[in-house]
Amino acid sequence: MANIPKIVFFDIDGTLLRSQDGHVAFNDAILKTFGIPGDIRTIRPDGKTDPIILQEIFDVAGHDVEWGQADLETFSRNLQECYTRAISEGPTRVRALAGVPELVRELSRLPDLSLGVVTGNMEVTARLKLQAAGVGEHIGPGAFGSDSANRNDLPRIAMERWRLHLDVPVEPRHCVIVGDTPRDLEAARTNGMKCLLVATGRYNPLEELRKLDADQLLPDFSDTPAAVDALLGLFG
Ligand SMILES: [Mg+2]
Repeated sequence: MANIPKIVFFDIDGTLLRSQDGHVAFNDAILKTFGIPGDIRTIRPDGKTDPIILQEIFDVAGHDVEWGQADLETFSRNLQECYTRAISEGPTRVRALAGVPELVRELSRLPDLSLGVVTGNMEVTARLKLQAAGVGEHIGPGAFGSDSANRNDLPRIAMERWRLHLDVPVEPRHCVIVGDTPRDLEAARTNGMKCLLVATGRYNPLEELRKLDADQLLPDFSDTPAAVDALLGLFG
């Protein structure tokens, strides 16, 4: 009989890594796709999916843009191109947050534990960022902003992908969400999954996250053994 799977779904921005001047590629892709200027710095994107972020940027700028799935796919291709260029030529720099490479390496060595992502990024950008931060090789399937604008849909989609990938039944109790915002916790709760929050995001300090009563809370991932213990303790 197959072993019971354990899957950790990491959020990306503010949890695994941070992009310096990541707005350049995003704004370039908006201009290229929709022919109008938009600036991601005019909104607070944390914990939101890219489709929601796009709409908020248009709303704040007063642009009445009609767009659908085909536009989102064009945006995704443009974003991939702009992000690749921004990383290779500067100005964008992606760096793993403290302790993340060590934690991911340590977790990837554990038997019956798998690592995936649940993120609001489009899949193409998610993969680029993970690669640039040096953790891409350890992170398997996941769910992305390109799958649904509603973050609460994503854990279920990611779980289904892992069920197909592993070819064994995967249930919410086999999955743990790791994130840096109240939206990560909400997505976990909506799907009956446990959640570890880490206070390395830009807008949610430890004291604010403490009020949310997540299943585990860490200031950061700099203490690898403590982070591994905290995560493994969440699997039923
Ligand atoms: Mg985040």
